[in-house]
Amino acid sequence: MLRAVSTKSPLPPSQHSRSLSRFRVDRLLESRDYAELRNIINHLGIAAFVIDVEQGDVYRLAAINERHEQLTGMQHTDYAGRAVDEFLSPEAAEQVKANYRRCVRERTAIDYDEYLELPHGASYWRTNLVPYIDASGRVFRLLGTSFEISHTVHLEQKARYQSSLLNAYLEESPDGILVVDADSHIKSWNQRFLEIWNIPAHIMEARDAVRALEIVREQLQEPDEFVNRVNYLYQHLDQEERGKRIRMRDDRILERYSRGLRDREGMYWGRIWFYRDVTEHERMTERLVQLSRTDMLTDIANRRAFMEALAEEYRRARRYGHPFTLLMIDLDHFKTVNDNYGHEGGDAALKAFSRTIKPMLRETDQFARMGGEEFSILLPETALDEAMQLAERIGRAVAAIRVNCRRGTFGITASIGVSELQPQDADPEETLGRADKALYTAKAEGRNRVASA
Ligand code: GH3
Ligand code: MG
Ligand code: MG
Repeated sequence: MLRAVSTKSPLPPSQHSRSLSRFRVDRLLESRDYAELRNIINHLGIAAFVIDVEQGDVYRLAAINERHEQLTGMQHTDYAGRAVDEFLSPEAAEQVKANYRRCVRERTAIDYDEYLELPHGASYWRTNLVPYIDASGRVFRLLGTSFEISHTVHLEQKARYQSSLLNAYLEESPDGILVVDADSHIKSWNQRFLEIWNIPAHIMEARDAVRALEIVREQLQEPDEFVNRVNYLYQHLDQEERGKRIRMRDDRILERYSRGLRDREGMYWGRIWFYRDVTEHERMTERLVQLSRTDMLTDIANRRAFMEALAEEYRRARRYGHPFTLLMIDLDHFKTVNDNYGHEGGDAALKAFSRTIKPMLRETDQFARMGGEEFSILLPETALDEAMQLAERIGRAVAAIRVNCRRGTFGITASIGVSELQPQDADPEETLGRADKALYTAKAEGRNRVASA
């Protein structure tokens, strides 16, 4: 007697074979007529095929049903009765036969996934094979049922690709990255995040958000502000943050970017945090700003810095009705200095001049080299008479300078013009212009002296 082995698989094909009427099962088992076999399996709503197992490792396709034809593009009449080696490439034949052999050997229903190049194109299939055993105990026929899983496989492939892409992003990013889920639980992070925050990996692996936050807090200059802001962002799902500065106790400066994660359907998945160490960048920027405002030879402010400070002081003085004064200083007969002692001697004199004047000024005074051998001093909160006294002292101090250079030792003098902000001045340049005129007067009157506007 012929009998079908009941499948251990929970999958539908066994149900399909069970749903065949007793009559049909018997005929399925017995029929040698390929057309009849096809009719028997045609009522199945799933792609089905019958394989005859013959001696000598031969597997002959006995029938495929209509659904199979529809899905694969194969025609029953083209294939029925042909051994799989006849119509499949050697590799493809070996692939399907490996599964047929397993089913024959194990004598039980098996499931497997396979990739097939079919007339309708390449696709992925999940197949169930049920063995039929004759009275002598030999597996002589297999009933296969298949459904296409290309869509699922492609989704899995896409998910794998995206996850590897995400990993690459995470690990190659110079930013420390933390991802939390919708319940604010730690989801993922990168190595850089641990480095930036000095958080041991085991704390993150244990998803210990409380301890992680403690470690973060300990390093912050303003931990309460930080925690409040983080909580605020967790409560405001769509609030973004771009370039928030965070100061650390060890003087590092971090920049934070953060945004909520929503998918295309608008579902909220959590929040992503980026932390960037901008300490080095910040220092470089500060240094460049400082360089752009400093005179290289004398290491005091340059014209640009002076004009900015003057504009600022002008606004302040106007608003509060306070005075300020300006000193314009020009070294006397400097061409002669250069002629007698060379450019090197001239430079040494410019440095000696700056070094001498600087300690005579207040922190809030602005002392700048305007170019060549011309200098300016801005004296906030200072009226004319006080400024004149300082100018006289500066003149005396300059006259006392002895400059040493390779070609010898020499003295210098300076002429100084002084002006005070006047109510009718329309802009700071007017005040400056009067100091310039006063300087011209000092020169004209014999140099090494002070004149006021
Ligand atoms: P006066 O008393 O009328 O100011 O005479 P002066 O020779 O100082 O006047 P002038 O402005 O005609 O000449 C300034 C000279 O200062 C010209 C230039 O050779 C020199 N000088 C300008 N900048 C520098 C500098 O950076 N280094 C040196 N060594 N000399 C400079
Ligand atoms: Mg000069
Ligand atoms: Mg000059």
